[in-house]
Amino acid sequence: MNINWYPGHMKKTRESIKKSLTMVDVVFELIDARIPFSSQNPEIDSIVGNKPRVIILNKSDLASGYGNKLWQDYFNTKGISSVVVDAINNKGLDQLINLSYKVTEEKRKSYEKRGVINRPIRAMILGIPNVGKSTLINSLSGRKGAKTGNRPGVTKSNQWIKTKGNLELLDTPGILWPKFEDKEVGLNLAFTGAIKDEILDIETLAFKLIERLISISPHLIENRYGINTQNKSTLNIMIEIGQKRGCIIRGGEVDFTKVSNILLDEFRKGVIGDITLEFPKE
Ligand code: GDP
Repeated sequence: MNINWYPGHMKKTRESIKKSLTMVDVVFELIDARIPFSSQNPEIDSIVGNKPRVIILNKSDLASGYGNKLWQDYFNTKGISSVVVDAINNKGLDQLINLSYKVTEEKRKSYEKRGVINRPIRAMILGIPNVGKSTLINSLSGRKGAKTGNRPGVTKSNQWIKTKGNLELLDTPGILWPKFEDKEVGLNLAFTGAIKDEILDIETLAFKLIERLISISPHLIENRYGINTQNKSTLNIMIEIGQKRGCIIRGGEVDFTKVSNILLDEFRKGVIGDITLEFPKE
């Protein structure tokens, strides 16, 4: 889904989410484990305020184990609870539930003092498009396929979905806008498919992806495509991948669009490897 964000639209979203926040005990902030910084909304701290929060590093199956650990440590040092989740394969859900209990302890105790026992913990999911909000709602609730009302900032019904662990999830996730300004962030969002490919033409994007993957580890490309990358230009690497994959047009030239599509698709599916694209700066 591609949303065009305008200032008025962001304002409305912010207000609508803040209203929904008054109804919940905890916020589940979803980010993409491959690009935790780039996939965070720029105003998330001010939107969430003091509300207990759990950061969910989703799509952890596509990120490196080492990267997942570093980011968890990083959020820990900032005093924010985080959990590594793979919403498609239901991984990390029990830890998420445990953390929800932990971060809402104060509130739960105050309810218990007043004799309210077993009150469900109410949670709301926030995140930029495509981080896996609907998938997580489905996996937590055990329902299949239903796409939740995916219109930004519009919380009409306020239905609660019961999940395991005695949680209640607001059925409409808060869809937040991504960071726009930074070029590097834009690239990361495009690599992972969080924003549409039209932002950059696909060949430039694939070119940049090769550069990035080589800088992380040349073995990623070498092992996947069976080529040697040493002392080769990005263009030559792309040509060799094209030849290996039979992306050839008339006259024996490489079909760059086709190679680019293959590369991006394979990266996004995780078949090039479990790759974290950015690490904590501090
Ligand atoms: P939303 O826009 O935030 O609601 O995102 P969706 O739930 O629609 O998910 C976007 C895409 O990411 C879909 O293709 C999902 O199948 C995929 N996805 C969601 N969670 C995960 C995950 O943990 N691992 C992987 N590999 N893919 C995921």
